[in-house]
Amino acid sequence: MYNMEKFVKAFRLPKALKPRRRTIVQQRSCRKPLAFVRAITAAGIFYDAVREWTGPGKSFNMIVMDISFFDLDFSGGAGRYAALPLVFGHAPPDAVHGVITSAAAGSMHHTKGKPGPAREAMLHSLGAVYGFDPARTFALTQIHSRDIRAVDRAAPNTGEAADGMITIDRAVTLTVTVADCLPVFLYDTQSGARALLHSGWRGTGIVLRALEMMAAAWGTRPEAAAALLGPCIQPCCYAVDEERARNFEAEFGGDSPLGPVTVRRDGSRPAISLQAANARLLAAAGVRHCSVCRNCTFTDTRLGSFRREGAESYTKMMAIFPAPAN
Ligand SMILES: [Zn+2]
Repeated sequence: MYNMEKFVKAFRLPKALKPRRRTIVQQRSCRKPLAFVRAITAAGIFYDAVREWTGPGKSFNMIVMDISFFDLDFSGGAGRYAALPLVFGHAPPDAVHGVITSAAAGSMHHTKGKPGPAREAMLHSLGAVYGFDPARTFALTQIHSRDIRAVDRAAPNTGEAADGMITIDRAVTLTVTVADCLPVFLYDTQSGARALLHSGWRGTGIVLRALEMMAAAWGTRPEAAAALLGPCIQPCCYAVDEERARNFEAEFGGDSPLGPVTVRRDGSRPAISLQAANARLLAAAGVRHCSVCRNCTFTDTRLGSFRREGAESYTKMMAIFPAPAN
């Protein structure tokens, strides 16, 4: 077991650090502190956030992110959907959550002007549970881009090509579809602005665009944002070719609060982690609160997966972001 007192003394951390929940600490410019940090997180010691620390003589920056891991629980949605909790520090906006549908709910396919019946039925039942108007639910024609639309009730989105939406309108509900790609939720705890993004390997980086747009439109500060990384294909199952891994590593690689962005096992193809890449981008942008779903869409058959089910018959899951309850 690692000696916490020694750690606090050696690195002059605030003595008030108390175990609370898992905080992943990362630093960039000095090897040794990172080793300590790895030791304490590996030992399962949990701490409150240490924001940033520069020690005399051997300065280093620590990137700190409070990470709340969670597993999907479909029991409340009769097997058809699960709530995704966004957590923010000590005052969790506990009424703030997204929703993800399961494979059992059917494919939530959206074609511009022609919403599918399973999707419509799901939005009606979710609207009754979460108090939103299904008629003010917007969807995109997703193209694996980093393009984002700002929407509100006067400027609806009925299927324009893009991969993310932002809004500050409480009357509006955002949706994207996913099946291995990562749904990313952002909530500005100060302004109430929301973003919902479809982030596959090609669109990785869209999260930064969303933060920029929210900052420009509503003054969103990353420190005030709660982020959530939903279910996706995890590195256990997301082998890619060498070139894609190289490019992904070059653009998003390095230490992430969630571990390596590219995973290489002996003798096997490289695998990439969409969640690790996004956590790295979020942490570097200054986001400090992140909820992370542990489920893998490929291995968990309750979920839809492009790779497992095949291009002809995969189940599109719908990620939904209604305004939080008052
Ligand atoms: Zn897996």
